[in-house]
Amino acid sequence: MELNENDSLEDSALKVKEGINQPEQVNPLALERARQLRHRTLSVDEFAEGILAGNRVVLSKAITLIESMSGVHQELSQRVIEKCLPYSGKSLRIGITGVPGVGKSTFIEALGVHITSQGHKLAVLAIDPSSSRTKGSILGDKTRMEELAVNENAFIRPSPSAGSLGGVARKTKETIILCEAAGFDVIFVETVGVGQSEIAVHSMVDFFLLLMLAGAGDELQGIKRGIMEMADAIFINKADGDNRWKANQSRLEYANALHLFPTPESGWTPATGTCSARTREGIPEVWNVIGKYETFTRQNGYFDRKRLYQKSLIMLETIAEGLKADFYSTEKIKILLPQIQGEMLNDKISSYVAAQKLINIYFDEKKSPSKPC
Ligand code: GDP
Repeated sequence: MELNENDSLEDSALKVKEGINQPEQVNPLALERARQLRHRTLSVDEFAEGILAGNRVVLSKAITLIESMSGVHQELSQRVIEKCLPYSGKSLRIGITGVPGVGKSTFIEALGVHITSQGHKLAVLAIDPSSSRTKGSILGDKTRMEELAVNENAFIRPSPSAGSLGGVARKTKETIILCEAAGFDVIFVETVGVGQSEIAVHSMVDFFLLLMLAGAGDELQGIKRGIMEMADAIFINKADGDNRWKANQSRLEYANALHLFPTPESGWTPATGTCSARTREGIPEVWNVIGKYETFTRQNGYFDRKRLYQKSLIMLETIAEGLKADFYSTEKIKILLPQIQGEMLNDKISSYVAAQKLINIYFDEKKSPSKPC
């Protein structure tokens, strides 16, 4: 029916009725509480309670404390970690590595969506000490994981900003504890597959996954034999379209190469497979392999043994780091080190004797500190 100029809209079906005001989408009280939490300094108990209740704002804040260089923050973070420790340890920790471009972010998104849809709560962390990108992180750009970034069962935290590998690794280990206490039962730790950071990641996870590309030689992919030896599974990513056949060939080559390596301490023969992070084909198989590994190593006791070993390692590393920091911050060492180093460089004394001299000076200084002049 057409409307004439004289017709009134009042009786017409085209009239838009005034609706009622819609309530705000997010409870303003909850928003205000979140805003306050973000800006207020919390006590140790408030931190611990918030984390244990799974409050992400509090969790993020606590991780920021861990990452802070300030002594006060460091001390506070240690007390929070201590409170959370009894509630940690219950997750499955998975390290994921591969050269830039292999598809790690796409893969993490695909596997992450798969496992969160099964009811798991996933935290994605990263170790990238070399990165100088904004926020010092390979995961800084969250748009790379669009689905996970808005998934309420996933928590993505960029790598602590660039620093020494030891420092970054320690912060990530502590972050794992907090994430576990907050209820995340699967933790991914991503790293770029080009060097030392794999060793650090390997020392903090239960399962280590290496992603590879088909056709590219190992050298081209910058993957060292040592990293292949650490892998519990190697998956050839981008096994889609024309690349499928090549990926399968590569998988066979890696499976053969792995047979030549000595059996790992876990007793587990590293698995190989192909997947496509883009089409998500083969992604459920990755999760199956991880599940099989967990069952296998829990049954033979390796899972717990490795965790205990990793715990001891943290203690020993912390001692080493603490001693080193104390050594170099000792006033007398600061003064005498360049002098003794000069003698060593001029071949007056050997490197070994120079080191021993400095160590002895350090211990003497500890026994009877010289008075400041
Ligand atoms: P990262 O640097 O290892 O994190 O790699 P990205 O996840 O950023 O992926 C690098 C490029 O490879 C992007 O253009 C992705 O779209 C593409 N890519 C990732 N996974 C796949 C895959 O399974 N198949 C195909 N064809 N491309 C992929």
